[in-house]
Amino acid sequence: VNLLLVERDELRPDASVVLTDRRADHLRSVIGATVGQAVRAGVVGGRSGTAEVTDDDGARMTLRLRLTAQPSVPIPIELVLAIPRPKVLLRTIESAAAFGVTRIDLTNAWRVDKSYLGSPKLAPEALGRALRLGAEQGATTHIPPVLTHPRLMSLLNLRWPPGKRSSEGPSKEPAGQGAERSASTATRLLAHPDAPPIERASLSWPLTIAVGPEGGWIQREIDTFVDRGFVPVSMGGPILRVESAVSAILGQLLLLHRLRRPGSGI
Ligand code: SAM
Repeated sequence: VNLLLVERDELRPDASVVLTDRRADHLRSVIGATVGQAVRAGVVGGRSGTAEVTDDDGARMTLRLRLTAQPSVPIPIELVLAIPRPKVLLRTIESAAAFGVTRIDLTNAWRVDKSYLGSPKLAPEALGRALRLGAEQGATTHIPPVLTHPRLMSLLNLRWPPGKRSSEGPSKEPAGQGAERSASTATRLLAHPDAPPIERASLSWPLTIAVGPEGGWIQREIDTFVDRGFVPVSMGGPILRVESAVSAILGQLLLLHRLRRPGSGI
């Protein structure tokens, strides 16, 4: 844990919080936090700063928060992810949250095993825990919303309807439609090992990157993505498993963002 995360409703009026769960265990046994010591802390979706341990009886740990920094800014990348094997799903979600991606759309695809959709790992509680662990690891107070789409075409039609190409710029969805219909990004990338290298693509920010299932995207899906304004890109030689591919491509995109926008801080 690189950032102790607390919920807004856990904060008491005097800016203290009482922890009795895994966070207190972690602070005691891994960080070795004792009374008087301060750790980095933040409020989910809110400000960050420090938390000083003011009391600890071994069961209840009380900390006083000083929230001096602005809320974390998500990295300007939206992740579309074909649902991977349940065994790696939560680790992948955790990594994406550690990077601080803006949002995650999980989707069915031709080569996604249909049993994955019924996995308990897709339950909001399981996803929520992975997102929290990732944010704590990445030291961000941003928790990306995760939406699950049982049909790829429904996701594409919802967010990138036919006839609206990326060159036309981001579309503002009508107000009040909720997270599912948020504005779509101008640059849309499709991660595919056989495609031209990512550094050749013309990028604008924020952007969307779509990562395929373990067996890859099928040609019909690639064609449909392209039709909806997605540009296939590769990371170079190695073909990586989904879990590694997500981290590698997010790392490459962050570097490209820094190179094109020096001083961006991400
Ligand atoms: N044989 C499959 C193929 O050729 O598409 C391999 C799929 S790979 C295990 C799973 C997903 O990770 C791919 O669909 C792609 O989105 C992403 N990926 C893995 N390695 C990649 C690379 N070198 N470049 C771009 N995307 C990659």
